[in-house]
Amino acid sequence: MRIAMISEHASPLAAIGGVDAGGQNLHVAELATALSAAGHDVCVYTRRDSDAYPDTVRAASGFTVVHVPAGPPRRLPKDELLPYMGEFGQWLAASWTAGPWAPDVVHSHFWMSGLAALTARSRYSVPVVQTYHALGVVKRRYQGALDTSPAQRISYERILGKQVDQVIAQCSDELAELVALGVPRRSIRLIPSGVDATRFTPSGPSALPRRTGRILSVGRLVERKGYADLIEAMRLLPDAEAVIVGGPPASQLKDDPVATHLRWLAQERGVADRIRLTGAVAREEMPEWYRSADLVACPAWYEPFGLTPLEAMACGVPVVAYAVGGLVDTVVDSVTGYLVPPRDYRALAKTLRELLADPVRRLEFGAAAVDRAAECYSWSRTADQLVAVYQQLTRVEVPVEAVSAG
Ligand code: UDP
Repeated sequence: MRIAMISEHASPLAAIGGVDAGGQNLHVAELATALSAAGHDVCVYTRRDSDAYPDTVRAASGFTVVHVPAGPPRRLPKDELLPYMGEFGQWLAASWTAGPWAPDVVHSHFWMSGLAALTARSRYSVPVVQTYHALGVVKRRYQGALDTSPAQRISYERILGKQVDQVIAQCSDELAELVALGVPRRSIRLIPSGVDATRFTPSGPSALPRRTGRILSVGRLVERKGYADLIEAMRLLPDAEAVIVGGPPASQLKDDPVATHLRWLAQERGVADRIRLTGAVAREEMPEWYRSADLVACPAWYEPFGLTPLEAMACGVPVVAYAVGGLVDTVVDSVTGYLVPPRDYRALAKTLRELLADPVRRLEFGAAAVDRAAECYSWSRTADQLVAVYQQLTRVEVPVEAVSAG
């Protein structure tokens, strides 16, 4: 199949770490890789945010990335991109109409990509599949006045859900949110993201020398990832060390406002000597960081899916997470880790303390986590499930070998 993926702000080629570069970039890259490996012809469209990029890049893993001219060719915060989505969609329709390449199906990632896809579809007939990655209504609920999304986001997300041909929810919590938003249940399919269990493995080098009591937290340095709660919890865990991986490159950490706040908080709570912020870590090195920890903590206020806990699980590391969003599906309470009430750092500390004191239970949970990650969450499985959806919408016959090859 010829599959167009639209990811307006999140290029699969981008370096991970910035405020707007995280799970979506990786999701698009991994999915495009898995679909290409299964024999499909995948083209990812992302906004051109630099003059230095070529129009088209062929990724090593077999898919093509097209830099679409829409808005100024410089990096802009994603919350400022809405005015350029019409231009983005018109460019797509013109390109597909002119040929030589045109898609059988379009899969848009994030709500603004969905608007570009609908604009394109109004000029070039093609089915559209939508993955939101995050919902404005959830963001507004948790971030309130701090939410910088365009005012129209929630109503556009509702309209999108009614107009696209298929909506993909990444977890059961998102599915419920979509139904509450008014998206017809019959047009939603639940297909979770995956993890590459050939790279994220329990055995292999560790980024830091072994030490008992090390807790790792991974993600973009944004407030909603809940690192402040982890620091509060550290006050109640006198023997533990917390390593926070992610954010801008280490050399820029001193100017980062969230890093500055966390360092201040750690100082204030008397735990600064046991908190370490690493800054961005290269994708290839992530397994070494997970392996260096006894536990991974995910104290996010909300989490649309959360690749990080899955990666930890694939590396055999138990996860203690707030019971929010996708974490409720991936972490099996008392089997692969623990779920604790959201925003309750005391409960977080108590659970972390108990598990840090019990190496046998950590081993048990780690082994169960490896099994769960391998059996339930692979990118080839995600790709196969999506191809089945694409096929239903297009009636393009895909040879059986191509579907199972991934
Ligand atoms: N990540 C990374 N380097 C870092 C920090 C994070 O490669 O320094 C990766 C991490 O391994 C995960 C992704 O970024 O694959 C974060 O995805 P997640 O869904 O957990 O969070 P999001 O960024 O979507 O909020």
